[in-house]
Amino acid sequence: MSTIPGHHFVIGDNLPLWALERPWDVVAVGAHPDDLEILCGGTLAGLVDQGKSVAMIDLTDGEPTPRGTRLCRIDEAQAAQKELGVPLRLLLDLPNRNLMDEPGNRYQLATIFRRLRPHLVLGIAGRTPAGSPDHHQAHLLIEAARFGSQLSQWEERYAMTKPWRIPHLAYAPFPFDAEERNWHGICIVDIGKNFDRKLRSVACYASQFDGPRLAKLKHTLTGHAIYWGSRTGFSHGERICFPTPIGTDNLMKTLVGFAQSPAPVTLPG
Ligand SMILES: [Zn+2]
Repeated sequence: MSTIPGHHFVIGDNLPLWALERPWDVVAVGAHPDDLEILCGGTLAGLVDQGKSVAMIDLTDGEPTPRGTRLCRIDEAQAAQKELGVPLRLLLDLPNRNLMDEPGNRYQLATIFRRLRPHLVLGIAGRTPAGSPDHHQAHLLIEAARFGSQLSQWEERYAMTKPWRIPHLAYAPFPFDAEERNWHGICIVDIGKNFDRKLRSVACYASQFDGPRLAKLKHTLTGHAIYWGSRTGFSHGERICFPTPIGTDNLMKTLVGFAQSPAPVTLPG
């Protein structure tokens, strides 16, 4: 998108006109600032590097927490956005800790989808009983809003926006999801070039991750990235999952051209 000027952070549905000029390639959605960086920051940075138009949506401001304030969380989210090179980040400002998949919230998120017109919605996914219940609600809300984005006859629920069918939905699952899910499609995104940027974007959230907490999180994220990368021959990877199998009319292009894996993983023995 050639008309994207700098890095814009908006609150609510106050989208700049340039953001509405044409459909976006990717809109990523998380419950809290830092969710997307932790789960798919390398993927987002890589998509930007590849010239794709990428926007991030935080459903809540993540506050209150024991450690932060709304203003510092907004500053941190903007710093992380710049680190990843993402031109547009939107805080939808739904309630943290009480985020619910309910009709009014579905309409709000779907209205943003109908205005941005993404080709792919990449949402967080999973149920995190050791963490915030907002994550699971966000998962449900993203799926419902993606469906709602295409609905006709309900324009008044969507601020009179036109229906927009979002062709693709993908998930950035929590690694500590309570469920072992049999995703219909999985791919590992090579984030070797952007892994350091991912970690730097996470480190922007200094209010949440001080020295020891940040060190522990970096250790965990490094382990996950090496594990998933090792499954496909990359130094570091992020797992992106799909609600349907991945279709192709060109098997070899999908295996070789799509993955661009340097080599198949060498099996021992
Ligand atoms: Zn979160």
